[in-house]
Amino acid sequence: MSHDIYLDANATSPVLPAAASAALETMQACFGNPSSSHATGLRAKATLDSVRARARRVLGAPGGRVLFTSGATEGIQTAVLSALCAVRERRAAGEKVGELLVYGATEHKAVSESLAHWNRLLGTGLTLCALPVDGAGRHRLDLLRELAPRAAMVCTMAANNETGVISDLEGIAAVLAACAPQACWMVDCVQALGKLPLNLASTRIDYAPFSGHKLYAPKGIGMLYVREGAPYTPLMIGGGQEAGQRSGTENMVGIAALGAVLAALEEGGTFRSHAEMAAMRERMAAALREAFPGIVFNAPFDMALPTTLNFAVPDMASKELLDLFDAAGVRVSAGSACSAAKAAPSYVLEAMGLPAWRTAGAVRLSFGPLATDDFIDEACARIRRCGQVARHPALAPSTLSGEQRGLLQLSGEGRHGWILFDMDAGSCVAIDPPAGMAARLAAQIQNSGLRMLAVLGTHAEPAAADACAGLRTALDLKPADAETLGWPGDRRDAGMVTLADGSTAPALTIGDEVLVRLTHEDGAIYLLGRAQEGRLDAAAVRLAFIGGIAMADGGGQMLARLIDGATVLCHGVDVDGAPCSTAEGMRRVAQKMAQVTEQVRQLQPARLDDFLRTHADALLVDVREAGELAAGVARLHGREAQALPLSRLAEHLGQLLAAPQRPLVFVCRSGNRSARAALCLQRLGHPQAWSLVGGLALC
Ligand code: PLP
Repeated sequence: MSHDIYLDANATSPVLPAAASAALETMQACFGNPSSSHATGLRAKATLDSVRARARRVLGAPGGRVLFTSGATEGIQTAVLSALCAVRERRAAGEKVGELLVYGATEHKAVSESLAHWNRLLGTGLTLCALPVDGAGRHRLDLLRELAPRAAMVCTMAANNETGVISDLEGIAAVLAACAPQACWMVDCVQALGKLPLNLASTRIDYAPFSGHKLYAPKGIGMLYVREGAPYTPLMIGGGQEAGQRSGTENMVGIAALGAVLAALEEGGTFRSHAEMAAMRERMAAALREAFPGIVFNAPFDMALPTTLNFAVPDMASKELLDLFDAAGVRVSAGSACSAAKAAPSYVLEAMGLPAWRTAGAVRLSFGPLATDDFIDEACARIRRCGQVARHPALAPSTLSGEQRGLLQLSGEGRHGWILFDMDAGSCVAIDPPAGMAARLAAQIQNSGLRMLAVLGTHAEPAAADACAGLRTALDLKPADAETLGWPGDRRDAGMVTLADGSTAPALTIGDEVLVRLTHEDGAIYLLGRAQEGRLDAAAVRLAFIGGIAMADGGGQMLARLIDGATVLCHGVDVDGAPCSTAEGMRRVAQKMAQVTEQVRQLQPARLDDFLRTHADALLVDVREAGELAAGVARLHGREAQALPLSRLAEHLGQLLAAPQRPLVFVCRSGNRSARAALCLQRLGHPQAWSLVGGLALC
């Protein structure tokens, strides 16, 4: 991929070249301490004063305080501390102060967490109260009107970082003027700078925190505006810098860089206008609609910043979309960057009352006002390519095994299902298909030209039966009898085979193998292998689909008599952290020969070249999914990786475990999926399975 298309500007932005030059100049030439009285210090002081004067003009704040902070989080602490100290003082003086700390339900966590923290620390004993938002993400002014008379402080952001939704600050101001003259009002302006007009002095806003790195300044610099007359308590005390309002030697590098950004804002000509950004959003939205038919945008465009698009695609998890975008060199995020590492649904979208699939599947794409038309063109081209790639067939022969038959793992809500297919025979079988995937799965099966022989379940839970029925409907298949868990009793190609213990069981033919059905008290198990003269020996059982049974259960004991140690077990839920294992591997874990808690073998990227040189036979394995691999498999240090999507690991377990002397180096986008693959192999006894730390992102 030629270069990154960075579409995560709400998380942070690159540094404006003029800001980087100003920072460098400050580090190299103008490095003085503004508190020093000599000429070097005076020059620094002049820079400090001129940036502050510019900030006042840009923010429309000729009066009040404008302080430099380390970022918005510090500004928020200072505002909350100031307001709560005033509450204590007023209360001690017998004044009425209100008992609620009201904050918008979609505020950044820095706000709600700071309120809770300082309220606890100062012992103010106020009650935190989240102000609900409506379906469009706007504060419920009717509810604010009810709460405001009892509020000591009200916190509402100017624009939301996840959705871009712009608050109705005038409406909020009117409510506060009418019902809450006593309450301090903080407006988190982080996402507004450079995107919305600001004229702070003309408002009733008491505190307005800003963060430089959201608008092309470096990280570690921010501003806090405090209205004249609003309570103020310094967060940091010491040398008396910032007129005693925020001690600590000033971050002159950051201040100079922020000054360059403020100059660009004030002088014009650098950043795109609102109308230009809105036109860019339209183009981006059109590309997204084309790439992902059925896409739903999570915030109305006419109420949101033109630079933020938050969306969900039916049947696609946000992780899947993120992986696709990342493989195409497009950097986007799921919800907010702070919560991206956690796999929780977005609380912002939940507060808007959106359905679960949209809160859990949300993707945020955000650009900054420095974006150019060429950049947007390239972004749109790559988005369209992501759409094509998303339709890439997942049911295709494996290049690693060279076989026409395959096994795809499908996972959803912690459960695993499987599609067994044979391209030569043109047929497939689904086992425990997860819910919510029917339409997309049916399309993939039809696109691959495969005929579905049966949609089977391993247990009779109603949700599982519904998921099976959903897939049958999407494929226009006859409904199945619930009793049989989908087993097609009337098929001509169904016969009986004899198993290793001499018992007989019904079987379906798929390619040159048979799929045998065994019933136990909780459901069914399916064995796949090549039968010889109507007999399926234990050593011939290649795969066993065992659903949720444990080997110690009745079903497990029956199974143990019918399979071999090398038979690959496909589970319905993770067992020892993996969706698949072998009977021998499970025995190793049970006998503590393998530790479930053991650490995966990690290969640092700096060691990879050396490792590949000393292990000429090592197999580099790219475990990204088919869509991501469509842009090409990884090539590292001149060695091309073999494609083995993680969802096809079970299919290849036998092949990989059969060659323990050959080192395996798994790679993926960020090192998570490769670690899972390596750990799975390691626990099953492969002595040389490695995961490349940090994945392709660090190579
Ligand atoms: N408020 C909003 C709306 C934000 O988007 C962010 C950063 O994501 C913050 C506050 C916190 O800013 P910082 O981490 O720069 O202190």
